[in-house]
Amino acid sequence: MPTIIDGKKVAAEIKEEIARKVKAIKDSEQRAPHLAIIISGDDGASHTYVGGKINACKAVGFDYTLMHVASSISETKLLQHIDNLNQDPDIDGFIVQLPLPDHVSVEKATDRILPEKDVDGFTNQNFGSIVTEHPLLLPATPFGVMELMKRYKIETKGKHCVVVGASRIAGAPLSLMMMQQGLATVTICHMYTEELEKHTKEADILVVAVGKPGLVTKQMVKEGAVVIDIGTTRVEDSTKKSGFRLAGDVNYDEVAPMCSYITPVPGGVGPMTIASLLMNTLKAYEMRTNQA
Ligand code: NAP
Repeated sequence: MPTIIDGKKVAAEIKEEIARKVKAIKDSEQRAPHLAIIISGDDGASHTYVGGKINACKAVGFDYTLMHVASSISETKLLQHIDNLNQDPDIDGFIVQLPLPDHVSVEKATDRILPEKDVDGFTNQNFGSIVTEHPLLLPATPFGVMELMKRYKIETKGKHCVVVGASRIAGAPLSLMMMQQGLATVTICHMYTEELEKHTKEADILVVAVGKPGLVTKQMVKEGAVVIDIGTTRVEDSTKKSGFRLAGDVNYDEVAPMCSYITPVPGGVGPMTIASLLMNTLKAYEMRTNQA
């Protein structure tokens, strides 16, 4: 039977570790790390995600600031808010919650954030730092995946890691991290990859970040592989009070029995994204106060 990677448990451990560090900071009469979040509009899912991030700040003792702006905000005005947070000495890190209104460029907004305050790890400089000896603030979701593998002592060195999905926030940075920090041999697959199954079947470690429930079936997985499912798609489910459930990209029931390790959805990679945000905020604080 596979080891089921418990992201909730690991995220809770990380929060406890951070809470202890924050307590020590406060006990020594220093100010707490401070995270700010800009959220635009009234999208229910975005507000739920941000609510989770605020609760996490409260749990570990961070200060936090929530800036709610209207979806009609101009790009210029949003960039001004970002500039203000960049210059605010009390803010250690901040994020601009996606999605943004259609008339605002995500690339312009995210790349306006000072890299040392970019705790989502989205800026070009932080992305590029992945392939250096001293990475700065790592993209939150792939950072969470690496941390999960580290804490479960999954060997990555010299292994063949196949990453399906090559987006800027998930598949592409994770591939680079697996190569640079994980010392794995990496294959990256995307929409135009021919004979996907031929590649995935070769994987010692298979990471999937696509957003297509059930994409990965048992025919596509090698016996004993480690399977990490980043996919999170809301699918209708009338048995749930909310009317939906979260589905991963891997057909869990048929793939799990063949694996050595597997992440469930929900409860695998998902909880680690907030934990990574907290780790990055603490690191940003330590870099600013020269404790890193
Ligand atoms: P995205 O920007 O839409 O990227 C999807 C990637 O999958 C692209 O690289 C695309 O290829 C590739 N792809 C699409 N169809 C494919 C197929 N049939 N075979 C192989 N590759 C295919 O999505 P994303 O933002 O990376 O998110 C992916 C999934 O991860 C979503 O379900 C999202 O909700 C989830 N996610 C979860 C977390 C979390 O915290 N748990 C965080 C981030 C993302 P091209 O590059 O060729 O278009």
